[in-house]
Order: sequence, then structure tokens, then C-alpha cells
Amino acid sequence: MSERHQNLAIIGHVDHGKSTLVGRLLYETGSVPEHVIEQHREEAEEKGKGGFEFAYVMDNLAEERERGVTIDIAHQEFSTDEYDFTIVDCPGHRDFVKNMITGASQADNAVLVVAADDGVAPQTQEHVFLARTLGIDELIIGINKMDVVDYEESTYNEVVEEVNQLLQQVQFNTDDASFIPISAFEGDNIAERSDNTPWYDGEILLEALNDLPEPEPPTDAPLRLPIQDVYTISGIGTVPVGRIETGVMQTGDDVSFQPSDVGGEVKTIEMHHEEVPKAEPGDNVGFNVRGIGKDDIRRGDVCGPADDPPSVAETFQAQIVVMQHPSVITAGYTPVFHAHTAQVACTIESIDKKMDPSSGEVAEENPDFIQSGDAAVVTIRPQKPLSIEPSSEIPELGSFAIRDMGQTIAAGKVLEVNEK
Ligand code: GDP
Repeated sequence: MSERHQNLAIIGHVDHGKSTLVGRLLYETGSVPEHVIEQHREEAEEKGKGGFEFAYVMDNLAEERERGVTIDIAHQEFSTDEYDFTIVDCPGHRDFVKNMITGASQADNAVLVVAADDGVAPQTQEHVFLARTLGIDELIIGINKMDVVDYEESTYNEVVEEVNQLLQQVQFNTDDASFIPISAFEGDNIAERSDNTPWYDGEILLEALNDLPEPEPPTDAPLRLPIQDVYTISGIGTVPVGRIETGVMQTGDDVSFQPSDVGGEVKTIEMHHEEVPKAEPGDNVGFNVRGIGKDDIRRGDVCGPADDPPSVAETFQAQIVVMQHPSVITAGYTPVFHAHTAQVACTIESIDKKMDPSSGEVAEENPDFIQSGDAAVVTIRPQKPLSIEPSSEIPELGSFAIRDMGQTIAAGKVLEVNEK
């Protein structure tokens, strides 16, 4: 295991090989427990299945999918020489957008899978645009199913060119993008350099994963700790719990909870049932603040430094992407917004601009409506106080999902907050 961690998204058009690639990565990195494989060794040998370990990984993923378990390829973990990777939800997955932006596991980087025999397809475009909107840093592009196109260099180059055009369109910084000809199914250029692509001398996939820049923990940003729950513990008192998104919390700090607008001094911090003097981004903590009672604060509050308290929005401007809506969205629409641990009904007060989702350029000023597939800049008025931050300043607290009728309708990031 490595000390260093990466949240990785696997994106790309349906059937281009995302699940197969995840299965291959789990298999090649030995991330399937030996005893689990052992259990199936005999059975597989009896049936005379070749390469059964890989087949077993794939069967397991398929089975999870059939059972409708929410994980399928998401939340699988594997380790390379450099990093422990967690696969975060992939687009196309039911709650991808909501999880990606409100969950604990925003992706740092992504692997884009593009099938060599199909090239750039509609979801390739959509996911690349979404990845850029949601702040993915770097892309590794696996041109997959090279076996299907007989490992032809010319086909590979054509698809690379197509993808490059797409990246330029959405203004994804393409300098660092690495392209790799792979076959997730056959295992070419994943963990070992393939003899089938003698014309390729770039990095293979595991090398490219190892070379990803290390995500910087946001310790320098001001403290932002969205409250998940508030407990009363005998002998201690009121204990809010949550995950530190940015900054550092130390005992003795003067903190403020917004929008409840109360505060005090941090007396104790507890992590993994132990008292600690200090906690950092990613830490799940329970803590106690002098003078704060159970009813003074609630889930959805954000805790920050008293001298740099979390912003509370009267209105905010945001860029949103409409994922799925049965009809059209017009000004006045008031669905529930999920931002960090808060759920607040908000009104889309005005639709300011419609963007072209494949280029990110303004397509229409003040449109009457937007619908599925559209990207837009909108002005939003929360119906109850909501603490949220501009994505450019504190990205961890600057994105949200819009839910209605049991579905994620749209996702967005905050451009500007107009405080009360
Ligand atoms: P996803 O929808 O992107 O997750 O795609 P899957 O991983 O489910 O793959 C879709 C189909 O393509 C399956 O039948 C896979 O076996 C097949 N497939 C995936 N990768 C490769 C590959 O590298 N070569 C070949 N020949 N088939 C592949």
C-alpha cells in the first residue's frame, strides 16, 4: 500500500470498455484478494476456463450490476507503486453527478476510455465536458479495443486526432493528456508493454497512473467543515460531526457555524475514538465547541474560522449542466439543491446564458428555457439560508446537484456568491 491517494474517475461512452478496464486494473494490480481467487480456482479449472482470474473479476462486477447494487465499478480500489486509487462513480452511473460533487470522493483525475473501433461518441463528448466543468485536473486517454482494429497504428492516430479536437473544443488543457493504445480485454499496454503495438513507445497505463501529479490536500484554504450530524454525548456535551473539506482545525480555534450564525472555541477534537489536537482535510471528526447546544446548529451548517466564516448566499450565480429533465426548465423552477451536507429548496431566478455543451461558448443570452443536455449560467435564490462558496475560491464547497422527482436533474458549480 502507498501513503498517497488518488480518486480516479473512469469516463467514456457506454460499451467502450470502462468496466472491463476497471476489472483489468484490479486484476493486474493484485487487488482481488488471493483467498477470493483461490475459492474459484478449482471450479474454474474444472470448467476449463482460460484466464479465469480475470474472468472471475469480470463476473463479479457483472453480478453486482445485475443485482442493481449501487457500486458496480465505482468504489473499487487498487494500488500501484505510487498510489492507492479509489475509483469514484462514473458518469452514466445513476447518481454519478450527485456523488461526484456532493460525495466524499470527488475525482482528482480521470481515465477517458474511447473504443478504437467507434471513436468519439456522444457520451465521450458529454463526459469530457462534465469532467472539465467539475474540475478534473488531468486526463489519461485509453484508446481501447485495439485488438478489434488489429492494432493498426493509423486507426489509433485517427482516434487520437478526434479526441484532441474534442479536448480543444472544450478547452481542456491538452498538454498533459497522455494517449495510450490499449486492450482492456486482452491486457495490452496496461501493466506490461505489448508486442502488438511495436509502433508505440509512450507510457503504458500503469506508468501513466503512477506519473499523475499528487493531489494537493487543501490545507492552506480556510477551514470548511460541513456538519453531517449533531450528537449529545454524556460527559462531553454537544458533538457536531463531519468531514473536513478544507483547512485545518485545532483545539483552541475560534469557529463559526453558518448559516446558523453561532460560534465559540473548539474544546476537543476526536478522530477514530481518540482525542487529537489537530485535524486536516479528509479527516472525519467529532468535536466540541464551548457554549454550543444541540439545537443551536444542524446538518448542513458549515463550520469555519470566526474571522473568515463560511459564506451565506442571498443569491448565487452558477454554471449548471442539465443531465435529465422530462420537460423544460424555466425561471421560477424550485427544486432541491444538494450542496455538501445541505439540502435546500432553491429557485432558479433567471437563466442568464445558454452555453454550447461541446464548446463551452455562449450560445444564447437570456434563453426562455433550458432542457436535458444544455449547459447554462443561472442565478439562484435559496429559499432558506444556505452556506456555499465560489468554486474558484473553495472548489470543495462550490458545487452542487439539483434533484427533483427522485433524480439528479442537473449539476453545477458556483461562479459567484452574493451574501446577505
Ligand atoms: P462499459 O459500458 O464502458 O463499462 O463497457 P464494458 O466494459 O461493459 O465493455 C463493453 C463490451 O466491450 C463488453 O462486451 C466487453 O467484453 C467488450 N470489451 C471491452 N474492452 C474490450 C477490448 O479491449 N477488446 C475487445 N475485443 N472487447 C472489449
